[in-house]
Amino acid sequence: MTERDVMDFDVVVVGAGPAGLATAIHLANLVERHNQDVEKAGKGDKLEPQICLIEKAAEIGNHSISGGVMDPKGLDQLLPGWRTMEPKAPVEAEVHDDYALWLTAKGGFKFPITPPPLKNHGNFVVSLNKMVKWLGAIAEQKGIQIFPGFPAAQLVRDGNRVTGVQLGDSGIDKHGQQKGNYQAGGILAGKLVVLAEGSRGSLTKQLVADLNLEGKNPQVYGVGAKEVWEVPAGQCAPGLVVHTMGYPLDSHTFGGGWVYGMGKSEGDKNLVSIGLVVGLDYRDPTMDVHRQLQRMKLHPKVAPFLKGGKLLHYGAKSLPEGGLYSMPRVYGDGFLLVGDAAGLMNSMRLKGIHLALRSGMLAAETALACLQKGDSSMATTVAYDQKIKADWIHDELWKCRNFHQGFHKGRLAGLVNAGFATMFGGKGTFWSDELKSNAGHTYMQKVGPYFGGKGKPKVDKLAEDGVLTFDKLTSVYSSGTLHEEDQPCHLVVTQPDLCSTRCVEEFGNPCQHFCPAAVYEMEEKAGTRHGVELKINASNCVHCKTCDIMDPYQVINWVTPEGGGGPNYTNL
Ligand SMILES: Cc1cc2nc3c(=O)[nH]c(=O)nc-3n(C[C@H](O)[C@H](O)[C@H](O)COP(=O)(O)OP(=O)(O)OC[C@H]3O[C@@H](n4cnc5c(N)ncnc54)[C@H](O)[C@@H]3O)c2cc1C
Repeated sequence: MTERDVMDFDVVVVGAGPAGLATAIHLANLVERHNQDVEKAGKGDKLEPQICLIEKAAEIGNHSISGGVMDPKGLDQLLPGWRTMEPKAPVEAEVHDDYALWLTAKGGFKFPITPPPLKNHGNFVVSLNKMVKWLGAIAEQKGIQIFPGFPAAQLVRDGNRVTGVQLGDSGIDKHGQQKGNYQAGGILAGKLVVLAEGSRGSLTKQLVADLNLEGKNPQVYGVGAKEVWEVPAGQCAPGLVVHTMGYPLDSHTFGGGWVYGMGKSEGDKNLVSIGLVVGLDYRDPTMDVHRQLQRMKLHPKVAPFLKGGKLLHYGAKSLPEGGLYSMPRVYGDGFLLVGDAAGLMNSMRLKGIHLALRSGMLAAETALACLQKGDSSMATTVAYDQKIKADWIHDELWKCRNFHQGFHKGRLAGLVNAGFATMFGGKGTFWSDELKSNAGHTYMQKVGPYFGGKGKPKVDKLAEDGVLTFDKLTSVYSSGTLHEEDQPCHLVVTQPDLCSTRCVEEFGNPCQHFCPAAVYEMEEKAGTRHGVELKINASNCVHCKTCDIMDPYQVINWVTPEGGGGPNYTNL
């Protein structure tokens, strides 16, 4: 058995996104307040907890990506003075104008009024990647021990109780043999472990399955592909927020696009954020979010925003879209789930940063209670769930609790359902008060309308021009993604035989399409049933987790690669 160093902490936070950082920062603030109260009162015990936060990216923020409009509600509560703090919060622009576009294949129109969920006045255009770096510096100042470049590879448990995490090993070659620089990942033992891994966290997924934590509905996800462009001055005003619906997605596919004016950054460049989210419960097995984004950019109502511009950055990531009824149980013996890991995303508004920050604060309050009582069993951690239910987080998610499920009957039905819920403040919904949904991959259809006569997918190939549209490999290059090449593949296909047999026949190998980073390829291979074999280009992986979510047979398991590997996002 491998010998592993063990380090003891009071609280171990996994993931330095907004949720994990808010947990750490707020806990440090609460401990400080607690100690001041003890000093003033002259009685009670002061606390000196050891709090650590680990992150798989080489630097805090490198794996952080969002569309980029932040509702300041969460940050206002976490850091009430943030608007005047030094160093300044990296806000790109305040939203001054917003509208929504309905796109048809060749035209479209501007909605006469902006649908209320898409109104953004008072919100801020941000780069999450910069925001997270800024929060990371604050956490460090508060004495949090931050370890970037250290993925948590698995949970350490004693029965149902989480007692810590095991860090990933490093220095293992692609055949599983130890190299000269081999280091066994240590164990970070924690009285409380806060899982802030974001969407489809690998530890969270395992825990939800093992302890049966799933909510009323299974989680349903989306995947977003985003680009940041430099454009000529005046072409897309800083703080302009445009949302698109319709084209390029068909009426059975949930999703929509955006164009956000970011203002000046990276020297004197005028930046624009453009992207598209597609629900990972689509029917078409050839669906490809990267290709759909390229098509969207060619649309006559979208292309003018980018005219004369230049692609700077690309990224892609999944997001939980199931809403309130898809939230897992968020607490247990020795653990809490926060942010996207807890399913706290408002898909009607495409916003989760404020919910992640707020849930981190509520988790911190619960962590303080655990420290004070010396107990992090379920009897104490249940308070976190109660706090969420009594908070604006719950009110906000309750109003749109059936939003995503409504689209399973098609786009029109989904929009009517959303309109109904918005008009009546979520008090009733069109069909039912509690719409059911299944796991997203189950909606994918087998070969049929999406395939041509010879069983080949009917993929509408784009002739990428390298100016406005790009192939996946160029996009991956723009994401700065890098992994150690000589390491075990972190995309573990548990039944590889399926790929060159049933999957060819039934779904046409959808992994080639749904991966927004060209990780999966079907290579020609003589002697196989269909003359093809799966090739995995793991070093392209941008950690979006789409393959783990959308594989129709659920045989792809995304596990953490060697520390520091992955995208190197800038301004995303
Ligand atoms: C395309 C897209 C567009 C979006 N647009 C918006 C928007 O405009 N406005 C908005 O408010 N929200 C938006 N969101 C949602 C928002 O980004 C998330 O809700 C928010 O980032 C969730 O924060 P989090 O801290 O829970 O997770 P994340 O931000 O995902 O952070 C999780 C962190 O944990 C790390 N991690 C994961 N697993 C491990 C591990 N095992 N070990 C160590 N580290 C690990 C990751 O590297 C990451 O840094 C968007 C999301 C996407 C994908």
